[in-house]
Amino acid sequence: MTERPKEQTLAELAPANHECRLCGYVYEPLKGDGKGNISPGTPFEELPNDWRCPVCGAPTKQFSNIGASNAPSGFQDNLNYGFGVNRMTPGQKNLLIFGCLALFFLFFLSLYGLN
Ligand SMILES: [Zn+2]
Repeated sequence: MTERPKEQTLAELAPANHECRLCGYVYEPLKGDGKGNISPGTPFEELPNDWRCPVCGAPTKQFSNIGASNAPSGFQDNLNYGFGVNRMTPGQKNLLIFGCLALFFLFFLSLYGLN
């Protein structure tokens, strides 16, 4: 009963985002708040007491915990994106990238040829 899935524990360890209930602004600890001189990586709990919502000026009391947006497990899903490019070997990737560059270059040359 006390055992919990590891993913959930990791997600709980990640700094939680907090949303302003008045205007919908979301404080993301990983980004911090440039306007309020809050450096990236500052958890909501460690914000100074006089910190205010940069959009509407609401105090921290008006924010509610909406949980972490980018839990570590999210990175696993990215492997399936990009039409399988991420599953290619480095050699195949280089071939694809340089092939595209060569095509792009030829495309530009043909544009000059038209003039
Ligand atoms: Zn606000």
